[in-house]
Amino acid sequence: MNQAVLVLIKPDGLKKSLTGNILTRLSETKLEIVAAKMARVSKALAEEHYKHLKDKPFFPEIVKYLQGELHDRKKAMALIYWGEDAIKKCRELAGSTNPEEAESTSIRGSYGRITTSGVYENVIHVSSNEPEAEREIKLWFNPEEIIVDLYPKKSIVVKEHKKSIWA
Ligand code: UDP
Ligand code: MG
Repeated sequence: MNQAVLVLIKPDGLKKSLTGNILTRLSETKLEIVAAKMARVSKALAEEHYKHLKDKPFFPEIVKYLQGELHDRKKAMALIYWGEDAIKKCRELAGSTNPEEAESTSIRGSYGRITTSGVYENVIHVSSNEPEAEREIKLWFNPEEIIVDLYPKKSIVVKEHKKSIWA
């Protein structure tokens, strides 16, 4: 069954110049990339992304981590992979959440670390199931940024909407 999955290259992955390595590893899946962008990560976006973990003691740290506050890189790369069993394929390549427990050949096993304050810096995020993938994709992307139709959408007329164009 074809699925969409959100993959984020987190700020540590960007800071360590791992973008190419991570994309090369993910290309082993033969999945299609249907959206990709660099994104500024506001506190509100990071909190919403990790809202299912808001009662965990590490929540404030992972919000800062995703925002780039720990890496002096206030951005993340967001991609949507699409194809057969996309979630399982990408999560397998990513490896376990804890980089010390992740298989050593997985992306997290190869490049992740646990900080002295206990944060799992595991270089990528991959949605964990279909409802989460849909929620996360709608959080990170607008419909026009995705080159296939993933979810129902509607047209609205936005009046007096200010936007930048090339000067
Ligand atoms: N995390 C952490 N300590 C933990 C659990 C999670 O630092 O004990 C971080 C880690 O970066 C992880 C993120 O919080 O990727 C989200 O946790 P989740 O349980 O959703 O793991 P994932 O789906 O990313 O494998
Ligand atoms: Mg998760």
